[in-house]
Amino acid sequence: MAFYQKCIPHRYDVSIFDIDYKTLKKQGIKALFFDLDNTIIGYDQVTLNEQHHAFLASLQNDFYVVILSNTSFSRVSKALEGFDVPFIYHATKPLKRGFQKALHLASATTKQAVMIGDQLMTDIYGANRMNMVTILVRSVKRKSDRWMTKMNRIFERHVLKRIQKKYPELYLERLKDYVDDHAV
Ligand SMILES: [Mg+2]
Repeated sequence: MAFYQKCIPHRYDVSIFDIDYKTLKKQGIKALFFDLDNTIIGYDQVTLNEQHHAFLASLQNDFYVVILSNTSFSRVSKALEGFDVPFIYHATKPLKRGFQKALHLASATTKQAVMIGDQLMTDIYGANRMNMVTILVRSVKRKSDRWMTKMNRIFERHVLKRIQKKYPELYLERLKDYVDDHAV
């Protein structure tokens, strides 16, 4: 599969709260891997709030949930304090290592796991390379992106333009709303 194709998510949803988890369950999905920064909380938020806790805990009834983050141990452990959920820090997405660790924790195959994240170049490209299902979400607060992510976003804009040219139908279906939602 060509590089640009691997940057296309299977679908786009506005937030982690809008994903159709019931259908995922019916499709045989066992594990959900969530990016942390700007997928669950903004970079400028230190911890998950009660709504996040309750929501992720409810998902744990049906799925094995793992937080898969490229950020540091101190950032992730602090964010998840008081919440019993396995996490992987310094996941080095889009490299395969972090995804493999998460699959191992969840005892799931790539076909049984979904990656949910807000970045094409790390979350989506990385998980597509693993042949996982990928769901892109709107960044919680794009302005809070850190410098490394800002660099990735520059590359992401280029990739989005190429996808729009090469795969206009897929772009319309899965990426246009993502682009439009961040333009406002
Ligand atoms: Mg992120």
